[in-house]
Amino acid sequence: MKIEQKLIKVRDVFNGYVDNDDDGVFAYGGKLAIRPAYQREFVYILEQAEAVIHTVLKGFPLNVMYWVKVGDDEFEILDGQQRTLSVMQYLEHQFPITLDGNKYYWDALPDDKFNSIMDYEFMIYVCEGEESEKLEWFRVVNIAGEKLTDQELRNSVYTGEWLSDAKRYFSKRNCAAKGLSDKYITGDPNRQELLEKALKGICDYQGMKDITEYMAKHKSDKDADELWQYFQDVINWIMKIFPQYYADMKGLDWCCLYNKYHKNTYNSSDMKDEVKRLHEDEDVQKPKGIYEYLLSRDFDPFAEKHLKIRVFSERDKLDAYSKQDGICPICKQHFEYKEKEGDHIIPWSKGGHTTPENCQMLCKDCNRKKSNI
Ligand SMILES: [Zn+2]
Repeated sequence: MKIEQKLIKVRDVFNGYVDNDDDGVFAYGGKLAIRPAYQREFVYILEQAEAVIHTVLKGFPLNVMYWVKVGDDEFEILDGQQRTLSVMQYLEHQFPITLDGNKYYWDALPDDKFNSIMDYEFMIYVCEGEESEKLEWFRVVNIAGEKLTDQELRNSVYTGEWLSDAKRYFSKRNCAAKGLSDKYITGDPNRQELLEKALKGICDYQGMKDITEYMAKHKSDKDADELWQYFQDVINWIMKIFPQYYADMKGLDWCCLYNKYHKNTYNSSDMKDEVKRLHEDEDVQKPKGIYEYLLSRDFDPFAEKHLKIRVFSERDKLDAYSKQDGICPICKQHFEYKEKEGDHIIPWSKGGHTTPENCQMLCKDCNRKKSNI
């Protein structure tokens, strides 16, 4: 891993500055991607941008910036994007600054002030190395800088055609993946959270150990079609199995559910009726668990755990205990209250509810044996 310190004048960075919107923002004679295509939006507010210009005008230091070497003479900004853009946008006449109560666009500045901006030197660390080394180092750098998400960090290392294509689907507020999945999957596409979820899902699906392994393997692919198809499969599968939409479907780990259950067959109209019935069941205390419960109940004896079925209140249990005179109805032994547990006489799965009439107190042994049947 090589890290080189450079001082580069604003004048040189501004040379060839071009903002192509979605297709990226470039500068430094076209050699620097300030913002690669489909990257995070510019999020500085005006006061922050103005504060950067005042810092530069006074000749005070800005924090160190980090560039990544991505080609022979090509770079991407890892850290410092917003500070750099503030200066570039000021020089592009996009906002004025206030000096002594007056507004000044760049072209109204006195020459000496204008030149002090153009001659200001950014302090930059340029880094070059293996991807795994870079990722490691970026994580450390990121502790101090403008916080990047884990996926933004990975994106700054595994660049290439695959990534540009993946961002086309998964990045930006109005991207295709957001439009398709918004009702089911949470995550800010601008911060690469949606891309991260899709990647996490496909890694798990293919038995890969983590996202970096997948990105390293595919970074030179000509497109991200495999990932995009996988993601569409997940969403289409949800809509097929659970045709009726409920708001509590949003935010579940659907990729994980798809990976676990998509090979099974389910009848969608049965599912529809069951989802409705369970939503109406007051003993179901975790409605978000309804979907995994239904997907797994045919082969997981503990599927009910997803629903958090209401337990008996202390009052119901005390009533049942005194009605039974402390005797366990199965083994007929006497036990102290503390040694017994509340049990559904008719199990919840067979239609019994968490009501006083359906409560009995069993000793712990009998209760365990009963639930293992
Ligand atoms: Zn017993």
